[in-house]
Amino acid sequence: MRPQQRQFQFISGHLALDFVNTVAYRLNPSKFRDYLETAADVTAWAKEARLLETDRIASTQSIARDGISRLLALRERLYRLFRAIALGKLISDRRLELLNNDLLHCRDKQRLSGRDGVVRWDWLKQMNSTDRIFCPVILQTVELLTSGDHSLIKQCDDQDCGWLFLDRSQAKRRKWCSMADCGNRAKARRHYQQFTKQ
Ligand SMILES: [Zn+2]
Repeated sequence: MRPQQRQFQFISGHLALDFVNTVAYRLNPSKFRDYLETAADVTAWAKEARLLETDRIASTQSIARDGISRLLALRERLYRLFRAIALGKLISDRRLELLNNDLLHCRDKQRLSGRDGVVRWDWLKQMNSTDRIFCPVILQTVELLTSGDHSLIKQCDDQDCGWLFLDRSQAKRRKWCSMADCGNRAKARRHYQQFTKQ
């Protein structure tokens, strides 16, 4: 979550959470930074997330302004949903209804295809770039929600960070989005406090 670094990070263990983590210092308005401000930003993230093929992203114009607004609205909606889960709250019917609408929209963009005896879901070729990001995020969100184990979904303990992740550690006691960032800062703070007490 270092704002000075431009590259995106994929440390949450889940596509939808990585998408939500495209802001820095979410919980501190004075340090807050959005990494998805322009079509070029969104395209770069989608490319790193392997949602857009290289040949489709030659033109950053392919994601329209309203497409970006739609993606950012989804990101903030998913943040509230996953944060509620991380806090142990129940998912409201309203949130599920919105997800159901998104799911219907995205399922309509899929078709079954068979290749070499393997049947799989394919996205429609004429699908626009916004949906190529929006729909995989929605489908993986639904998959995560229906997998049953919501206790894996956690929010970083740092007071400013706000990043979300899946805690797949054996002891289930992962506290930080990343040891290299928030974990290290917490360690440095503890050392400093110990030092100043002496
Ligand atoms: Zn963090």
